[in-house]
Amino acid sequence: MKLDIDPSVFLPGSQIAVGFGWDPCTFKNRPRIHTAIDRAGMGIVRSPIAAEKTAWIDNDAEYCSVFRLFFAGGELRMLHFIRGELDSGALAAALVGAGLEIGAPIGPTGNHGLSVSSNGGNGRHVHYSIILEPGVYNDDLEARLGASWNSDYSANFRAKYGPAFIDQVKQRCITWMNTKVIARHDPYYNGALRFYVNPAVYGL
Ligand SMILES: [Zn+2]
Repeated sequence: MKLDIDPSVFLPGSQIAVGFGWDPCTFKNRPRIHTAIDRAGMGIVRSPIAAEKTAWIDNDAEYCSVFRLFFAGGELRMLHFIRGELDSGALAAALVGAGLEIGAPIGPTGNHGLSVSSNGGNGRHVHYSIILEPGVYNDDLEARLGASWNSDYSANFRAKYGPAFIDQVKQRCITWMNTKVIARHDPYYNGALRFYVNPAVYGL
C-alpha cells in the first residue's frame, strides 16, 4: 500500500535541526539513537495526511507533549508542542480523537532556529517520526529505499559506536536497524513491534 503524504504543506519555512539516526552530539554524556527528525524555524506545522483520528497527550512517559495523527497502518507522531500554542481546531479535534484534513494547521515549529545545540536541548523545535505497522507499507518503502530496505546494519553500528550504541539498543528494545528504518518495541502500542521510518523517506 502507498502512504499518501503531501510534504508541501507540512513544515514550510522550517529547517532540520537534528536528523534521523545515531546522534552522539546532542547530549554528550548520553549518546542516543534519534528515531525522529527535529525541525525548527518559523514554519507552521500542517497535517500532511488525511488523519482518520488524532490524539493529544500533555506529557508522555518522557515528559514531552505528543500530538498524534493516525492513518491506516500507522501514525505521524510529533513532540514538544505547547498546548496554548496549538491551533484551536486541531486541539479540539485531538482532545476528542477526531480526524484532521490534509493541510489543517496544528501549531508552530518553534522559532529558536537550530534549537538543539551541541551542548544539549535548549530551545523549541518539533520532533517528528513516522511509525508503521510491519508489512502494511513494505512495497512503498521498497520502492523508496531500494535494496537498503532489507539490509541490517546493526553490526556495523555496534562496531563503529561500541558500548554507547549497545546500551541504547538494550534500553530502547531495538531489534533491527538500518540507516533509514529502525524496528523497536513501541511503548505506546501494546508491546507490538512497529517500524520507525525516517520521515525523509516520505519527503518530510
Ligand atoms: Zn528529536
